[in-house]
Amino acid sequence: MPRVINFGAGPSALPDSVLQEAAAGLLDFNGTGIGIAEISHRSKEFTAFLGEVESLIRTQLDVPPTHSILFTQGGGTGQFSAVVLNLLARHRLLHPNLADEDRVLDYVVTGSWSKKAADEARRLGGARVHVAADARLHSKDTKSFDNIPTHDKYKFSPDPALIYYCENETVDGVEFSSDPSSPASFPFELLPQGGLLPLVGDYSSSFMSRPIPRLADHAVIYAGAQKNIGPAGLTILIVRKDCLVDVDAAAKLGAAAVPITMAYKTLADSSSVHNTPSVLPIYIAGLVLRRMKELGGVQYYEQLNKRKADKLYAAIHAGEEKGIFKAKVREGSRSLMNVVFDVLGDDLEAKFIAGAEAKGMKALKGHRSVGGIRISLYNAVTEEQVDAVVAYMNEFIQT
Ligand code: PMP
Repeated sequence: MPRVINFGAGPSALPDSVLQEAAAGLLDFNGTGIGIAEISHRSKEFTAFLGEVESLIRTQLDVPPTHSILFTQGGGTGQFSAVVLNLLARHRLLHPNLADEDRVLDYVVTGSWSKKAADEARRLGGARVHVAADARLHSKDTKSFDNIPTHDKYKFSPDPALIYYCENETVDGVEFSSDPSSPASFPFELLPQGGLLPLVGDYSSSFMSRPIPRLADHAVIYAGAQKNIGPAGLTILIVRKDCLVDVDAAAKLGAAAVPITMAYKTLADSSSVHNTPSVLPIYIAGLVLRRMKELGGVQYYEQLNKRKADKLYAAIHAGEEKGIFKAKVREGSRSLMNVVFDVLGDDLEAKFIAGAEAKGMKALKGHRSVGGIRISLYNAVTEEQVDAVVAYMNEFIQT
């Protein structure tokens, strides 16, 4: 079976050349005669490789020395819990005498994933969850995630333990703009002033697709690898060093105990090998990042991803003019990574998907919770592949 065009939302397409290299590495990692899935995570060869992966991320994203880059498992969902536990431990050490109901976690809710993260914070307890903005209130029907709210819609708390947002909402196709002058940018200017911000960004589905605005102001940035850079099973963290707190000291003051593998300080103190890391996903991510550096890094992908998305949104627009397609997200808030739209008319959506599959384009179905079409344009999806789906869409609206 020849390889098809994979527009899946995650796990998603990886570059063919990397998969071929990884296949060779499964038999012989770096001339050791041992495959990458078989070699010790404490071997000098793997230790050197892990160091290289760290530096490939640090140089390409310009991560300052104030921040550690850590590797863990448990996915984005694991981080929904870990950010709360670690940042509440930090807040406890800073303010030992506050009652739980006086500790606040601010959540910006712009889609299904940030909503899930806020739900987990409520489940864990130990603080009050304050929704600093809820995009649904500003949507066309007051219940959809179809926009990034304008800056006047946010209300942050004065001293929250955490301020949470999701940069790109994979299910809903909504993304913050990286242009600070856009009304859909993240409202950095409204955040509490003075002191180190407890700002947390979920970058699972946009990590390494473009530079991260105000990266140095973040307490934690995290991403599952399975969109732009590798297989599932690896979670990448960028953590400001004041957030590597002694969670046991915080627990003695009344904070919740933190499972040892979730404590950021444990990961940092052990250079991410407190326990066995996900060796194979780290290897593949490293190969992807090496290739990315050769191509020109995040700046290269920023340009390419913008061109890809512009072409696709133009095709949706052409279909809208004919009453066949309908973009789901308000202009200005549309994701460059996950493009969502409806095909209007009885049975036309099924016909659209079947026609695409017949042309070797797969995984275009929207998330089961929202339906419609979702075309994901992660880094490994080439411009030629986007041209192919655009040609198909133009053909579809003519028939
Ligand atoms: N956040 C975002 C933005 C996601 O897209 C996903 C997964 N698609 C998650 C969190 C959850 O990640 P995981 O499945 O790795 O737990």
